[in-house]
Parts: sequence; structure tokens; C-alpha cells
Amino acid sequence: MRILITGGAGYIGSHTAKMLKEQGHDLLVYDNLSTGHAEAVQGLPLVQGDIADGERLAKVIKDYEITDVIHFAASSIVGESMQNPRKYYLNNVVGTISLLNTLVACKVERIVFSSTAAVYGEPGNNSENGLIEGFVTAGVTEIAKQFATAGQTEPLVLNEDCPLKPTSVYGQTKLIIENALKDYSRAYGLKYISLRYFNACGADDSGEIGEDHQPETHLIPLVLQTALGQRDKIVIFGDDYPTRDGTCIRDYIHVNDLAQAHLLAVGYLREGNASEIFNLGNGEGFSVKEIIRTAEEVVGRVIPAEVGARRSGDPAVLVASSEKAKKLLGWKPQYSELEKMIVTAWKWHQNHPNGYSQK
Ligand code: UDP
Repeated sequence: MRILITGGAGYIGSHTAKMLKEQGHDLLVYDNLSTGHAEAVQGLPLVQGDIADGERLAKVIKDYEITDVIHFAASSIVGESMQNPRKYYLNNVVGTISLLNTLVACKVERIVFSSTAAVYGEPGNNSENGLIEGFVTAGVTEIAKQFATAGQTEPLVLNEDCPLKPTSVYGQTKLIIENALKDYSRAYGLKYISLRYFNACGADDSGEIGEDHQPETHLIPLVLQTALGQRDKIVIFGDDYPTRDGTCIRDYIHVNDLAQAHLLAVGYLREGNASEIFNLGNGEGFSVKEIIRTAEEVVGRVIPAEVGARRSGDPAVLVASSEKAKKLLGWKPQYSELEKMIVTAWKWHQNHPNGYSQK
């Protein structure tokens, strides 16, 4: 039993590879290193190759006796996907279909797929009658209480049955593959788990692997790069949203909690369970200002911030219900507190201020 990790040199892939190794699994990282980093693999077995290179991949699967695949390899920047859809349809759709065809040909029966909250699109934009459809109420969470106090609509949390109407090319390409998986599963018996990540953040406790995107677009790394003096300020994309402090609320989930879910997903399929789709989030939302404030507490200094224009396509609130993953996979996130998440990211950024390129 050996697990192939496509994109295992990337952010979430490298954390998953490390955890799999620590828990005694045999694995092989397969990555074309277009955005991944060989250093992130930390000496684990790595083959440099492309998922679209079917011949090479089939040989690797045979040589290494691969039985399961965790498929991270993809392009994942929402803004870039709008500017350059061709790249996203090629890498994420054509590349992944080629991968699936190779798996079917090689009789690999199980795949865990990196999907995204971006498949849901903008909550509420599907409604014709002004009502938000398809959402479940949050229950008694901090965010629910604060919304209620402000006299606003009860906050709504996305579950797996919510309408799928991606607003970005990135989300669209991931949804296409979720649908393809359904068809491949029915026709060819390939079992799958799709994991819809919310806002991945943080780094391994070792501080040796972490988030290194070029260019960086995500909030927490940008805030910490500002704290390091690498950027003059962080620009808050709008403070006039209908939220407790006017800034967007997101569901931040620690990368090692995501990694843990992949291990459980592989085990779930190996036990013979049916294909499933799971949200992976914290169930608690944090605003942009709360992220900056908590980061200031963690780093012990003021982080210059300024309010700018809204970023197009940003929904006010995106929070996940991950009850299904907790119930069926037995998933138990370990890093629910925002401070804990930022502490781990800060350690990585301090150790590697320029990412993997310079220590
Ligand atoms: N954000 C921001 N300034 C930045 C980058 C992000 O205010 O420089 C906000 C963004 O509008 C969103 C949140 O931070 O509300 C998280 O954005 P990110 O790009 O990290 O993840 P996304 O939610 O888009 O997947």
C-alpha cells in the first residue's frame, strides 16, 4: 500500500506528506515543481513529473506499486484564474482528467481530491426572491451571537448540500472535476473523497515547512510579511460589509488539520466506505481586522494597515459546517484558536523570511 501525493511539494501537500510519513505510511511525492518547492518535501521520496504525462505517471504507479492517490497538484489563485482561464482549464481540468484516466488504466481504486469552498460561489446570489437559499444556521457560535446582537440576519453556514455556483474560474475547474469524479466512480469504480477546503493557514509546528506562494495573495502571510517589514502596510479590502466590524469574515483552518483530514479520508476509503464530499473548516469565522489584531498580539508590534477598496467577488461571510467530516471521518481539528494558527505561521515566516528560496 503506497500513496501517491500529486502536488506534494506545495503548501497543503507537503504538510500532508510529512504527517503521512510520521504516521508510518509509505508514500511518493509526484510534483512538477512549477509552484512547489523540493525543500518542502524534506527528503521524502520525490519524483519530478507532470500529472498530464500519462506514460510517465503510469510507469511511476507501476514501479512504486501505488494503491491510493491524494491529488493536490493544481493552480489555485482565484484572481489569476480570471485573467488566465486557459491555464486553469489546462492544469486543473485537462491535467486531472488525464490523471484519472491513468488511474483507471492502472487500476488504482482510490483518490482523495483537493476541492475548495470556491465551488459554492457567493452565498445568497442564487436567490430570486431575496431569500438566501440552501444554507444551514450556524447554531450557537460566537459569530451567531454577534450577528444577533447587531440585529442582522442570522449568520448562515455552508454545508455540503448548498448550491454550487462558483463565481471564479478556479472554483469552476474544481467543480468540473467533482462532477467527473462522480461519473468515473459510477462507470469505472474509482472511489473518491472530495475535500472542500475553506481558508488554509498556519504552518507545521516545526517551523520548517510553511506557506510560500509567488506571488503571495493570502491575508495571513501578507499580514506577517508586513510585520517583518517586507511590506509597508496591509490593505484591508473594504470595511463596509454587513459584518460585526465591517470587514469580511472567513473560516480559517490550520494546514495540519487539513492534512489530518486527508489521512482519515484515505483510511475511510480503504475501509470500503462509499465516495463522499466533505467541507473542511473551523466553523468559526474571523474578520480581516480580527486577523490583524491577533497577529499584532502574536508578533508583539503594530502592523500598519489601511482600509482600501473592496476586492471584487469577495462574499461578506464564508463559514463552513464541517459536521459531516467530524461525524463520518472522525475528524478533530486541533488548532481551532486563531492565535494558535498565527503563532505557527509566524514561526515559519521568522525562520524563512524569504520562503524556501533563502533560509
Ligand atoms: N484580504 C485583505 N487584504 C489582503 C488580502 C486579503 O483584506 O491583502 C481579505 C480578503 O478580502 C478576504 C480575506 O482577507 O476577505 C481572506 O482573503 P484570502 O485571499 O486570504 O482568501 P480567500 O478568502 O480569498 O480565499
